[in-house]
Amino acid sequence: MSYVDEVLASVQQKNAHEPEFLQAVTEVLESLRVVVEAHEEEYRKVALLERLVEPDRIITFRVPWTDDKGAVHVQRGYRVQFNNAIGPYKGGLRFHPSVYQGILKFLGFEQVFKNALTTLPIGGGKGGSDFDPHGKSDAEVMRFCQAFMTELYKYVGADIDVPAGDIGVGGREVGYLFGQYKRITGSYEGMLTGKGLTFGGSLIRTQATGYGLLYHTEEILKLNGKELKDKICVVSGAGNVATYAIEKAQQLGAKCVTCSDSTGWIYDPDGIDVAVLRDVKEVKRARLTEYKAQRPNAEYHEGKGVWTVKCDYAFPCATQNELDLEDAKTLVANGCQGVFEGANMPTTLEATKYLQDNGVLFTPGKASNAGGVATSALEMSQNSERLSWSAEEVDEKLKSIMYGIADTISDAAERYGMKGNYVAGANIAGFEKVAAAMIAQGVY
Ligand code: NDP
Repeated sequence: MSYVDEVLASVQQKNAHEPEFLQAVTEVLESLRVVVEAHEEEYRKVALLERLVEPDRIITFRVPWTDDKGAVHVQRGYRVQFNNAIGPYKGGLRFHPSVYQGILKFLGFEQVFKNALTTLPIGGGKGGSDFDPHGKSDAEVMRFCQAFMTELYKYVGADIDVPAGDIGVGGREVGYLFGQYKRITGSYEGMLTGKGLTFGGSLIRTQATGYGLLYHTEEILKLNGKELKDKICVVSGAGNVATYAIEKAQQLGAKCVTCSDSTGWIYDPDGIDVAVLRDVKEVKRARLTEYKAQRPNAEYHEGKGVWTVKCDYAFPCATQNELDLEDAKTLVANGCQGVFEGANMPTTLEATKYLQDNGVLFTPGKASNAGGVATSALEMSQNSERLSWSAEEVDEKLKSIMYGIADTISDAAERYGMKGNYVAGANIAGFEKVAAAMIAQGVY
């Protein structure tokens, strides 16, 4: 049995109840076969792959909080510290009822390679809770965040582990979490990113994942002799990533005609109005029916359906496994030429293969959505030097990082004879850096 197959079999046996984690590990290891075969003896000797697929540690804790009526609830909190070979653990916190250990392990594993691709010194981690912020008052969210940090503070720090936002954790939550860390430890340090601009946050961090996705897309399209201008794009999600992906795509001359949330989706033939979307989601924290109320020309549909709209390019920006084989077939039949992931692992393995086999340009989230964590690392740099950079300076750095990632993954795929396979390119380039650091640091 090959080394990759041995490790995959062991991962499947040990993590049978964590399908998302198995999916992420399978995708990565399958595309690393050629690299592993070329270095099999060296890697086996230090059990490199076995160590790579096992988190450094997983911290699980109880989070009791009190609602506005005085009732006490108990949630489960987690931090998965996956790998710190190239820097302190770095990765967001997700608050969503679907959160369990398997989701956070998949996200933490992906984060290790993504962070390596940014070229910045950050390791991989992820955390969160099964708490659902929907429908909670600000005071309830604050008490939950305080309770969460009252346990988490023991395990994080500016040089140890630096969380950030993710689904359900935006500026409001990061503010409450940071306040509680400072209150407990008395230390004013950059141990969280995505902070408000008045207390150590970086300009452009809010927009960074969406903007970065479009910078990356621009470069990949350029490498393939295509462009964004005047193209019709479909986007899923209506949160942080989707909103700023739409904004940047429209600045670059494309028209984005859809967005979605967990209950329905919008088709706006005139192009999504970002000001309205932000008002609905960031200010009112309402459903997309409210978008339709403000934009009578738009259509609102219940359920899922963004991928049925004819488009040139598609940007899944909501959540994992939201684009399956049927969706991929519909996109191809409708002439879609590129799928660029804004969310983490939004495309199933079967859908990815179908898109690639049918000549659709495809970039995986660990490359195309790395702008968020890259700008978080830039926030860490600014906090360390006690300075704030201008928006132009951060945006320039973000652009250069995202163009660089596109070139790196393209080169890595070509080096191993898989030109245009950006999934393989991203996994190989991220792996090479982490593997070299792990081997240099000895067995641990
Ligand atoms: P937000 O919470 O801001 O937005 C998530 C959006 O997706 C919301 O519109 C939400 O709907 C929708 N959504 C969430 N879960 C589901 C579901 N199960 N089914 C359908 N729709 C769903 O999160 P982000 O925009 O920050 O994150 C989106 C994706 O991008 C995630 O995969 C995240 O891991 C990834 N990502 C985020 C980064 C960041 O910087 N924020 C960085 C890199 C990746 P509703 O409005 O109803 O809640």
